[in-house]
Amino acid sequence: MTLRCQRCGGEAVYRRPYSGEVLCRKHFLRSIEDRVYLAIRRYRMFNPDDRIGLALSGGKDSMTLLHILAKIEARFPKARLIAVTIDEGIRGYRRAALRIASKACKRLGVPHHVYSFRKLFGLSLDRLVERALEKGLKPRPCVYCGILRRRALNIAAEELKLDKIATAHNLDDVVQTYMLNLAHGDIYRFTVSGPVTMSRFEGIPTRVKPLMLVPEKEVTLYAVLTAIEFQPTQCPYAGSSLRTDIRAMLARLEDRHPGILFILLRSFEKLADALRDQVAAPKAGRCKICGAPTPGDLCKACELLLDLGLVDG
Ligand code: SF4
Ligand code: ZN
Repeated sequence: MTLRCQRCGGEAVYRRPYSGEVLCRKHFLRSIEDRVYLAIRRYRMFNPDDRIGLALSGGKDSMTLLHILAKIEARFPKARLIAVTIDEGIRGYRRAALRIASKACKRLGVPHHVYSFRKLFGLSLDRLVERALEKGLKPRPCVYCGILRRRALNIAAEELKLDKIATAHNLDDVVQTYMLNLAHGDIYRFTVSGPVTMSRFEGIPTRVKPLMLVPEKEVTLYAVLTAIEFQPTQCPYAGSSLRTDIRAMLARLEDRHPGILFILLRSFEKLADALRDQVAAPKAGRCKICGAPTPGDLCKACELLLDLGLVDG
């Protein structure tokens, strides 16, 4: 028997395991766009005249968010959406994603800027990994990537005068991040893992996650149903991090207990709210090498570049 959409009676394409809703293509797509809009309003992510930088990797999440934010932006004529892609320099991976990202931005009329590790820090991620090996260090590509991408985005935000940086973290990603920070006992980061992360440092824009109320599977379905082109392959460095194991564990839980991700999100948000006033934020200073805001003497990026012998201490 063909399932019927409960909103219009049309042919259904999806049954939401966690709510039982049955939806046709049109109403499924609308429900996702409404969810993004709900997150933006509920967590007061944007002001109507913000310059919003979207961190656009070319993967399915950020490409989907690009399309939805471009639609929403059309309703706010004073807001500006600007896409920023960080080119880490990963052979056989990043170039295809860049092509896809730039093509979509052109089609949607969204300005697109690319910042590369090589130009900003002197070496691509691949070369940084080789450099670590040459120095007899155990390379940690995802750590290098995370630290330098954050720095690159902050540089882009300053140059492009961005008020906010939107990242395409979906529900699964946000719950994983809360769990990771708990696992590491990093209570301060736990309290700022949620929808809106305001920096304690002047000039570093607030980060927001408009896709955080959409489960990963539904992001994929949205992208497939709207034929959004995205980079389908995985980064060659993705693999055996703790996040990968937490992701697998949460996916198993969600299969057996549909809706558990939303329940965990609410619980973590409550816990973060309760803890926020009790955790002292690390003090705000300046990096002795590059001047970037940091709680220690050196920022994480300079610590890393120093370890690899790429800057002088
Ligand atoms: Fe960067 Fe690791 Fe993600 Fe690859 S898997 S893009 S190296 S964080
Ligand atoms: Zn520094």
